[in-house]
Amino acid sequence: MNIVIIGAGVAGITAAEKVRQIDSTAQITVFSQEREDFYYRTRLPEIVSGSLVIEKIFVHPPSWYREKNIELRKGESLTEISLEERQVRGSLGSRLLFDRLLLAVGAKSFRPPGIDYNLGGVFTFRTLNEALTILYEVKRAKKAVFMGAGVLAIELAAALAGSGLEVLVAERGSRILPRQTTPASSAKLKTLLAAKGVEFILNSSVKELKGYERLNSVVFSDGTEVGAQLLIVSAGITPNLELAQKLRLKIDKAVMVDQFMETSISGIYAAGDCAQSLDGQSGLWTIARQQALIAGQNMVSEQLSRQVYTPLSPNVSLKVAGVDLVAAGNLDVDEKLNSAIAETEGFYRKVVVDDEGLLVGYTILGSNAGVARLAGALKREKLSPSTLKALKEPDFDFSSLVFD
Ligand SMILES: Cc1cc2nc3c(=O)[nH]c(=O)nc-3n(C[C@H](O)[C@H](O)[C@H](O)COP(=O)(O)OP(=O)(O)OC[C@H]3O[C@@H](n4cnc5c(N)ncnc54)[C@H](O)[C@@H]3O)c2cc1C
Repeated sequence: MNIVIIGAGVAGITAAEKVRQIDSTAQITVFSQEREDFYYRTRLPEIVSGSLVIEKIFVHPPSWYREKNIELRKGESLTEISLEERQVRGSLGSRLLFDRLLLAVGAKSFRPPGIDYNLGGVFTFRTLNEALTILYEVKRAKKAVFMGAGVLAIELAAALAGSGLEVLVAERGSRILPRQTTPASSAKLKTLLAAKGVEFILNSSVKELKGYERLNSVVFSDGTEVGAQLLIVSAGITPNLELAQKLRLKIDKAVMVDQFMETSISGIYAAGDCAQSLDGQSGLWTIARQQALIAGQNMVSEQLSRQVYTPLSPNVSLKVAGVDLVAAGNLDVDEKLNSAIAETEGFYRKVVVDDEGLLVGYTILGSNAGVARLAGALKREKLSPSTLKALKEPDFDFSSLVFD
């Protein structure tokens, strides 16, 4: 059987490994636009901050691909797919027949429209190549501006602020980490980060980038102009949909897949950041990996023994400037549900339940206590009103947590 996988990120390589586990004779070919072996994309901030040497970022040694008999075509984009001929074409001239195809093409950084990004010192942050370029530029710059205050920007901004670079995070919304915090915890985190040297501009978006060939200053919608030599666009991601569009696959926000991770065309599967499954489009490593295990299995299984993908609800967890932050599910920012909030100076915890008492979300800043109990119970277990009341105590003992 000929298996062609497009993309050598966590989705592509995990699926390739799964296929090999099940079928020792399948011909597995992985096309990769990037020139490097599969690496931990999640660890790129450590490359930029200089805390990880490049050798440590690769998931497998080069010998692994030979041992698994997985052909990795590095630096070759897959450009054409013919359904009639069941054939693909790569940008370096490869032509291959396929029986099953996996789209594991991931996503690219979103660039808000209406701005000319074509200046030296302006980057998105998605690939190892970009991380290495930013690492070099950081040493030349005095001030860096982050466009967007999501996980990626905050993590990197905090790391760089410690290295002597002036760092400014600009967010058009009213709070930082809007998907992981409430207004109260966001304000706390912002104070902690400010103490580490990170500056913020909130409620204001980048309007214009000024400079001749290289970035010289950033102009914001409120008229403020800030001198900067480095701008990192971190305003979210957009799935790579070009191939899916050419194939006329069913697309909503990303490539739509069923519970088997199969797209609207039989024999063509999708997984990871480019896919939209039962739990929507994720943008998370653990979900990409889980989807790829299912897709890999199903590509080489008989129809009746195919496996079903069960949506995950993973935590987003990060350590920013030495402070733990964990969040998952619905944080009830509009305060329409029941919740328990516990707060001290450097600590904030909110646990949210729905009308039936089902745990639907939580966010904890400044501690890891209770995370495992809450993560295991999310969208599965109910909390009684008395437990919810007890959770308002900052030093609530999670070993005593019982679900209804
Ligand atoms: C800096 C950073 C930090 C992150 N931190 C976290 C974190 O802490 N926790 C977390 O859960 N997630 C994190 N993420 C998100 C996580 O890395 C992604 O969800 C995950 O990498 C998605 O994997 P994927 O295989 O679907 O796509 P990708 O990793 O994007 O891989 C897709 C690959 O396909 C290639 N490709 C695209 N089109 C073609 C084509 N036509 N031909 C050949 N190749 C092609 C791309 O170049 C890319 O190499 C982070 C992401 C970034 C950028």
